[in-house]
Amino acid sequence: MRNESVGSAVQVRGLVKRYGNKTAVDGLDLDVRSGTVTAVLGPNGAGKTTTIETCEGYRRPDAGTVRVLGLDPVADAAALRPRIGVMLQSGGVYSGARADEMLRHMAKLHAHPLDVDALIERLGLGSCGRTTYRRLSGGQQQRLALAMAVVGRPELVFLDEPTAGLDPQARRATWDLVRELRADGVTTVLTTHFMQEAEELADDVAIVDAGRVAAQGSPEELCRGGAENTLRFTGRPGLDLGSLLKALPDGTAAAEPLPGTYRITGTVDPQLLATVTTWCAQHGVMPDGISVERHTLEDVFLELTGKELRS
Ligand code: ADP
Repeated sequence: MRNESVGSAVQVRGLVKRYGNKTAVDGLDLDVRSGTVTAVLGPNGAGKTTTIETCEGYRRPDAGTVRVLGLDPVADAAALRPRIGVMLQSGGVYSGARADEMLRHMAKLHAHPLDVDALIERLGLGSCGRTTYRRLSGGQQQRLALAMAVVGRPELVFLDEPTAGLDPQARRATWDLVRELRADGVTTVLTTHFMQEAEELADDVAIVDAGRVAAQGSPEELCRGGAENTLRFTGRPGLDLGSLLKALPDGTAAAEPLPGTYRITGTVDPQLLATVTTWCAQHGVMPDGISVERHTLEDVFLELTGKELRS
């Protein structure tokens, strides 16, 4: 196992990147803990790819600092490249080469590569080894790009939208691979549009909007923080909600939208649930059908980044 420590694998501070007079990244801070999976989420044009490409050393920051495995991705590129795996959105490979040749070539560039045949097998690329890259389907190209990113057994992998356009089976295979990398101590940074992907895979999620990180934390932290949750139950109509509210923390609201149907909104945690059921017991009320609606990552995402479409 590598990277057991909770050190920082990637540290970005005040990153600014402009294309002409367009500011793509605008003072972005990001921390990726060693050995974890961090998902970078954000609407189109938020600056995710630019940030990742800067971490990979493909773009030079206009301001701010980027440290990857403690190194400067541009100045220390020669030392860093063998230690990281990169899956670009475009694939970034020579389109006339055969899939298996490319993978074997990539494996030879590293001291302790993964078993190429096993990797081909598990990513379902067995039937396309002799096919040239340009003749592979979009999903096959993507799986090959993933294989190329991980074959060198990197300490850190950057995956830019690794499952965009994949069918559910290939998406599962990709998720399994990321989980295995994590179990092996590898750090993964991935961008994704899929909330479920972030919820399933990520230890930490960074929500990027307009070139900055709007929120960062574990999926649970993000869903708990900010957004309110709702507790619902039914009971006898006309309960004294003023009395109930006195027992609940400030900032909690209670309503009876339909007779005998109750809705409590606020920070619904185990303590609040206990307080409500205790109050009911003290008032001879049997609360039926208690349910807690937790906010999903998608709710939090839309709350932070707005609901309008981005181009
Ligand atoms: P995301 O990955 O979140 O969709 P990008 O980093 O690709 O965001 O892009 C951020 C912004 O920078 C967008 O407005 C995009 O149009 C612009 N941009 C990205 N790459 C270039 C480029 N090479 N030249 C000019 N503008 C670019």
